[in-house]
Amino acid sequence: MNVFTAGTSGPIVVAGAGYAGLHVTLRLTAKLRNNPMMELTLVDRHDYHQALTELPRVAGGTRAADAVRIPLQDLLAKRVRFVQAEISGFDLAGRRVHTGAGPIGWSRLVLALGSRPNDFAIPGLAQRSLSLYSASDAERVWAAVNRALDDAAAADPERQQRLATVVVGGGGATGVELAGELAEMLPEEASRHGLAPDRPAVWLVEAGPTILAGSSSQLIDKASRILSDLGVQVRTNAVIAAATEEGFRLKDGQLVEGGVFVWAGGVKAPELVADSGLPTGHNGRVKVDRYLRVLDHPDIYVAGDLASVVDPRSGHVLPPLAQVALEEGETVARNLDAELDGRQLEAFTFHDKGFVVSVGTRRGVADIAGITSGGQLAHLLKDAIEWEYRQSVRYLRGWDPVAR
Ligand SMILES: Cc1cc2nc3c(=O)[nH]c(=O)nc-3n(C[C@H](O)[C@H](O)[C@H](O)COP(=O)(O)OP(=O)(O)OC[C@H]3O[C@@H](n4cnc5c(N)ncnc54)[C@H](O)[C@@H]3O)c2cc1C
Repeated sequence: MNVFTAGTSGPIVVAGAGYAGLHVTLRLTAKLRNNPMMELTLVDRHDYHQALTELPRVAGGTRAADAVRIPLQDLLAKRVRFVQAEISGFDLAGRRVHTGAGPIGWSRLVLALGSRPNDFAIPGLAQRSLSLYSASDAERVWAAVNRALDDAAAADPERQQRLATVVVGGGGATGVELAGELAEMLPEEASRHGLAPDRPAVWLVEAGPTILAGSSSQLIDKASRILSDLGVQVRTNAVIAAATEEGFRLKDGQLVEGGVFVWAGGVKAPELVADSGLPTGHNGRVKVDRYLRVLDHPDIYVAGDLASVVDPRSGHVLPPLAQVALEEGETVARNLDAELDGRQLEAFTFHDKGFVVSVGTRRGVADIAGITSGGQLAHLLKDAIEWEYRQSVRYLRGWDPVAR
């Protein structure tokens, strides 16, 4: 019995064209050729896919925002129906997604809506700081830095120091990449604004005892050394209690002042999922079975940041990473394929390929197969991973040329 003979007519609908959703769509495209009845619909608010792992470069002014927006029309086969619309909710019993373009019925739904910044209800944080979760966000960060440098150039020395300081909240991979990128670019940018190259400063404020929490101590040491070499001032055990006009107020009463504030302190599930009636766990992520189907909703799969998947080896929920999203997308595509062919579903297993973080525009750190490296090689590795990803979306598009 497959999804059609089971009496569950209607398309397979993929909600979200990010890392997970796009992967599922591209992988299933070849099935369209042998299944003339099959409909595959992809829904996203944007008509482009965003390479989010490259955002720190856009925020640091080294890459154009349009370079990380990949038009979906260049990637999708003609038989894939793409609907550009905002998804506003789900009718679980009626099997329909509510969108700005009207309701869309599903026989199988893949939820891949990613996540959004989590401000942990810290007072003032959402209003006072910028976030970094889209190409437009990243453009806003770089524009704000430039405005602050302009203002600093016209200010007295004391204000100048404050205005030319960028404060990044959250010392995870995103915060480290952003702080490194800015620290490398700001001296030159300051000169362009008529300021001394050593005038700008970058602060990285982390609530926990270390940056890059969960990584090996060697990796953390190497990253800390590069950040220090770039002049980034790292504050750990610094819990932000409130964000005010003057800056981040820490729990111990200290004020971290700056001209630009960026929050990279964590993510949570999109709001519409909280009101959907789907079973949710930590940070609002959706609970799934080992085949990545929503508990008690076998017609709905979840992949990427939105899925709450426990790694049986560590007992922890897998982190919100592109690598995880792609692997989950692969399993979802295989399981939909299995359903169409009436085969057994396969359980999801995460194969960790390692961890790579760029620190500045030339160096980075990496933990791969138990070996830690730091320096230019790790940065080249990060470049290679991003290049390979861009190739893969184009390669998968050409996976079955006859279906185009
Ligand atoms: C700055 C930054 C740097 C990162 N660097 C790395 C890295 O180096 N390595 C790594 O492994 N991971 C990295 N990540 C994490 C990685 O980007 C995410 O884990 C990954 O994007 C998750 O994929 P996803 O498909 O679940 O969601 P996303 O890629 O976020 O895609 C979600 C899609 O859903 C769409 N969508 C959401 N809500 C709606 C709605 N209501 N209506 C219509 N469409 C909607 C969005 O437009 C988007 O296209 C980084 C993240 C950020 C923000």
